Amino acid sequence: MTAETAAAPPSTPVLPRGGRGPASDPSAPLSPDKVLFTDIQLPLYDPTEPATFDIVVVGSGPAGLAVADRVAQAGFKVLIVDPNPLAPWVNNFGVWIDEFELMGLADCLDYTWDRALVYLNSESDGARYLKRPYGRVDRPKLKRRLLERCIASGVMFHRAKAKDVSHGGGRSTVALEGGQQVSGSLVVDATGHSRKLVEFDKPFNPGYQGAYGIVVEVESHPFDCGTMLFMDWRDDHLDASPDVKARNEKLPTFLYAMPFSPTKIFLEETSLVARPIIPFPELKLRLEKRMQHLGLKVLKVEEEEFCAIPMGGVLPMRPQRVIGIGGTAGMVHPSTGYMVSRVLGAVPLVADAIIDQLSSVSDKATDGHLQRAPRSDAEAAAMSAAVWRTMWPVQRLRQREFFEFGMEVLLKLDLAETREFFAAFFALSDYHWHGFLSSRLSFLELIAFGLSLFAKSSNAARINLLQKGLPGLVVMLSRLATLR
Ligand SMILES: Cc1cc2nc3c(=O)[nH]c(=O)nc-3n(C[C@H](O)[C@H](O)[C@H](O)COP(=O)(O)OP(=O)(O)OC[C@H]3O[C@@H](n4cnc5c(N)ncnc54)[C@H](O)[C@@H]3O)c2cc1C
Repeated sequence: MTAETAAAPPSTPVLPRGGRGPASDPSAPLSPDKVLFTDIQLPLYDPTEPATFDIVVVGSGPAGLAVADRVAQAGFKVLIVDPNPLAPWVNNFGVWIDEFELMGLADCLDYTWDRALVYLNSESDGARYLKRPYGRVDRPKLKRRLLERCIASGVMFHRAKAKDVSHGGGRSTVALEGGQQVSGSLVVDATGHSRKLVEFDKPFNPGYQGAYGIVVEVESHPFDCGTMLFMDWRDDHLDASPDVKARNEKLPTFLYAMPFSPTKIFLEETSLVARPIIPFPELKLRLEKRMQHLGLKVLKVEEEEFCAIPMGGVLPMRPQRVIGIGGTAGMVHPSTGYMVSRVLGAVPLVADAIIDQLSSVSDKATDGHLQRAPRSDAEAAAMSAAVWRTMWPVQRLRQREFFEFGMEVLLKLDLAETREFFAAFFALSDYHWHGFLSSRLSFLELIAFGLSLFAKSSNAARINLLQKGLPGLVVMLSRLATLR
């Protein structure tokens, strides 16, 4: 069960997210509305002529497609298994443009804003403009680019849903719904937040970013189309609803909005992080109250998004035979919910580690594309372990501990404290707040970030941060001592 379906109330129409193929017959034809790229001919694997693969990648989200392409480019046989590789990606991904520019993906944004805006409160000095351009990912364009690259590099596709994985004789075999199976020297689990194949040795205990969003056509809206509304913590729209206002003061949510044109906008009521998740009906109610307050007249709802992103919590067991990447590998930023840029940025490193493990010694010397097929489970386990080490080196683990500490602090803040926190956060140097949000700061830089945040906070906020942060700080320090 995905995090989304687990979190949604039974009557809530959760949007399909790729992984919902027909349960009984994964190879049955898909309804036309689930296929976006009708002109793309995928090279399909024919199970009646079984082939051996170097890697089987389960999942064709951003993580799966990007890693499959890079490994196939190096000459290895790669199979992607997904019930519907041509389905549209439904999440509205937002990214900082500098992150996408660095990866040569700036043309894969369909809307961009020169700056972002944060409203801490409704006071005249409550607005903070952030001079960092923001963009919405052009989902069809990015997915098409990754699919076309995969096809060009020789990746094969199999439309099926993975059920399970088993290992023996140095190979890993993925059992598929419908009874078939496929096997590879290594298996990569890129099934996102459904975490289908990776294993955990401790209870999975994340916080959740919950959000209810809509893309709407409206008669008009009050937002500037050159500015993305990153966070709006104002709550005067709840003055006439004291019960909702009281709930919001305790468990605050903010408005995240992307104005596309004077009459089209994405509005999302977002809980930065909560445990348990704030239920979708509550998020929807709060958004409706904001919209009434803003006087928005909706002409058409084009998209509806139910967002439940697991944040932080334990990482999958490391090492383990199945390699995880993306949502399955705990790569979501535990204090923000962002992941797309981080995963696309990490793919070269992780894919190159896979390539290195799959290359025979002589291949490394001659570049003769001699695949190394592991001859025993011990050899295959050592190969996977090397890849896990590359994905989660000690520096990244330390950084994640810090983010996790940040998440635990955020989980405890009420509305007033959250406002204080972000007043200090956005008063930091660009280097610090950009770096924090983009997972770019090393652990030592994060310590400097934390001290600077403390220095920028008001006296009341400092006392509060000390009270709420101290237990988490102790936990973080004890965990850091055990990291290898
Ligand atoms: C609503 C929402 C909004 C988000 N917005 C942002 C954002 O604005 N910015 C950001 O950086 N991050 C965002 N995230 C977080 C994260 O970037 C996304 O979740 C991202 O899609 C994760 O990529 P992925 O490749 O790991 O997994 P996914 O994109 O979830 O892809 C998983 C793939 O695995 C397939 N699959 C699942 N189960 C199986 C199975 N059993 N067998 C075979 N295939 C299977 C699915 O069909 C799917 O194609 C958002 C997440 C959500 C849920």
